[in-house]
Amino acid sequence: MSQMTNGALEVYKEMILLYAEECRKLVNSKCADLEPWQIISATILTTLGAVWVKGIIFQPESLMSRMKKRFFRLVRIIPFVGTTIQTQLNKALDDMSESLCTLKEGMSYTKTLPTQGLTHEQVLQRVREYQSLNDVDWENGNVSGAVYWGDETLTKLLVQVYGDFAWSNPLHPDIFPGVRKMEAEVVRMTCELFHGGPESCGTVTSGGTESILMACKAYRDMAYERGVKHPEIVAPVSVHAAFDKAAHYFGMKLVHIPLNKNTMQVDVKAMKRAISNNTAMLVCSAPQFPHGVIDPIEEVGKLAVRYNLPFHVDACLGGFLITFMDKANFPLEPFDFRVKGVTSISADTHKYGYAPKGSSVVLYRNKRYRHYQYFVAPDWQGGIYASPSVAGSRPGGIIAACWATMMYMGEDGYVDTTRKVIQTARTIEAGMRKIDGIFVFGKPEVSVVAIGSDVFDIFRLSNGLTSKGWNLNTLQFPSSIHICVTVLHTQAGVADRFISDVRELVATIMKNPKEKTTGMGAIYGMAQSIPDRSLVTEISHGFLDCLYSTEVTKAQYNHMNGKAH
Ligand SMILES: *Cc1c(COP(=O)(O)O)cnc(C)c1O
Repeated sequence: MSQMTNGALEVYKEMILLYAEECRKLVNSKCADLEPWQIISATILTTLGAVWVKGIIFQPESLMSRMKKRFFRLVRIIPFVGTTIQTQLNKALDDMSESLCTLKEGMSYTKTLPTQGLTHEQVLQRVREYQSLNDVDWENGNVSGAVYWGDETLTKLLVQVYGDFAWSNPLHPDIFPGVRKMEAEVVRMTCELFHGGPESCGTVTSGGTESILMACKAYRDMAYERGVKHPEIVAPVSVHAAFDKAAHYFGMKLVHIPLNKNTMQVDVKAMKRAISNNTAMLVCSAPQFPHGVIDPIEEVGKLAVRYNLPFHVDACLGGFLITFMDKANFPLEPFDFRVKGVTSISADTHKYGYAPKGSSVVLYRNKRYRHYQYFVAPDWQGGIYASPSVAGSRPGGIIAACWATMMYMGEDGYVDTTRKVIQTARTIEAGMRKIDGIFVFGKPEVSVVAIGSDVFDIFRLSNGLTSKGWNLNTLQFPSSIHICVTVLHTQAGVADRFISDVRELVATIMKNPKEKTTGMGAIYGMAQSIPDRSLVTEISHGFLDCLYSTEVTKAQYNHMNGKAH
């Protein structure tokens, strides 16, 4: 047997030698008339050229995407086209600043410090003026997500606890040992909820985005250590934009995996195909934001084990619901550290944990992962500097308030609110499914119900709901809207009012399903169809600039006057 293979190998070896000889003769004859300096120069030039071309083709941003951007930049240089686009853009920006930064009559912006400090009473009086700007009625459950509860007893408790810890800073555990203990306990209690076991650990962060940033940073550094130069995050397209942000901040590439069109869960086969030597981590959501669907975590866990990759489960939105759903009699498939392969989880205390904004938890299966999250500057002149997450100084008051919320709620409190929220979401889901002309995306298992339509532009329904005082989330690719059910929607009559409003609006729309969409709805539709995404980015920059505007434009004055009459 081995002699036979040896014999076969001999044949191949002879063939290769023969070809090599042919090659040598060919090259030598071609170069026979060249002088050595010519051969050397040609070699250097082609090598440099090859390096240059490689540099152009292989960049973090794909060649196609860069060519597209270049093309649209050129389009905007074309005289007439460019100015038309600019005029449209300016109009969009003006409209936005007009609708976003409206003041009430007689109001103006404070642009300098008061020369003399105000009295306690004066400050409170000014604060009431700012509160009077609120037009949206969130207390009655008209808003999707945004405020997850707002219980008055809890608010009073939080204000007191915040006051007691207002000056504390976990950066100085020696000065504020109480807050250190609270933070450690928030992490430990959350570990227990997600079945982390004694090895599990984590940190408190300022919110879901920071939790996600931290996990991506940890896994990027692990990938660097393995010698990966361009680490990639492999995640469903439905994953939260915080992963785009992480990729952007940390020089990683986000590889988006498509969803199964029926279930809206990530396509696990496509995910498997996307895994490469550059893969730093896999991601799933439990549930994802757009459609409220839980990805197939056990299947992706198997991939993570098989390819020995870290696997993050983003439970920022629903973490403090899904951990109580078994006990609230809405059982789920395992989604946490019970699933082999899951190495980290993010869960927002400031969403369904009902803590005030500014807290979230990121958990790891063991301390080895958490060490990659930490930052240490051993040689700083200010002393050895060690910090667990993005911030340096951190608000101890917020951590104390988060701890107090968890203690106040207790398991029974969370199970109770979870039962109410899920029941209401299921009622709304069932109501939506009974309405002709719209459909529900996938199987929403937690608190988000997303709807779309094959018959009419769903943003017309969005317009109608806005006119009835609702404030829903609009989603794109595909066009859809969703309601994220919070405790505020579990108040008597809210779900029924929502269902009957949708039913009534859809019935009206269905009389004329092909009618053109107007108003904000048209803008959402348009924003999706603009091929030059840099325009959308530019408008968004204008939006963000608006948030910091302290100028009252002429249009806003007119608008104010218009409102007053
Ligand atoms: C809200 C949310 C986050 C993080 O958001 P923050 O606003 O930073 O708290 C992450 N993932 C999902 C699915 C979310 O819904």
